[in-house]
Amino acid sequence: MVPGLLLATGQVLPVTSVHRLARTSTLMRIIMDADGQVLDMGRKVRLATPAQRRAIFARYATCWIDGCPLPATLCQIDHADNWSTGGLTDLKLLGPACQFHNRDRYQHPHRYTRRQTGKDRWAFTYHGRTRRMQV
Ligand SMILES: [Zn+2]
Repeated sequence: MVPGLLLATGQVLPVTSVHRLARTSTLMRIIMDADGQVLDMGRKVRLATPAQRRAIFARYATCWIDGCPLPATLCQIDHADNWSTGGLTDLKLLGPACQFHNRDRYQHPHRYTRRQTGKDRWAFTYHGRTRRMQV
């Protein structure tokens, strides 16, 4: 079992203390890269961190909807699984969406199909208004 790190003091806690804290307080799961940059924020935070944004721009050149040419650096950071319905603010589930596609996919999720295009990399196909919701 991996011990916990108390960020405020740098103190390493034994697993028993982590379990006690988990029962008595609100814990936030944070995954960091080798440089200590936060990559996964779970459910506590909706917005991407600066480190997540940099990692997303390295991974995507444009909006993650097929055929949309807007450069990723001009996009909003979108959740592959909608945050309001339980999606995580984890790097592997974040990508760039232009303002139009971000809002449209949120309002009309059935118009889009997601597919995996690489490790922790996604793309969406837009089907337009005629596609029926699949049950
Ligand atoms: Zn777009």
